[in-house]
Amino acid sequence: MRYQSSTTKRRFLAGVRCPKCQVMDAVVQINIVEPEPDEYIECTQCGHTEHRPDPDDISAKNHAEDQMYRDAMNTGTSGTVKFKP
Ligand SMILES: [Zn+2]
Repeated sequence: MRYQSSTTKRRFLAGVRCPKCQVMDAVVQINIVEPEPDEYIECTQCGHTEHRPDPDDISAKNHAEDQMYRDAMNTGTSGTVKFKP
């Protein structure tokens, strides 16, 4: 039986500079499944590890919708209503 897990994937990232030691072409992307799915980068030179930002955390769409809602409120309340007899 093989003890080494095949679920962990290490992928070399060409042209990527380590954010800590600034060494080029030393960073690998690591995908693990156990104990829980995760993805991070690791520098083979200094051992620095860093999580990548999760795109799901970026709520640009919600922000845009909120802005449209405010604009609608402003145009609806700022105008002066005049009644003509
Ligand atoms: Zn490094």
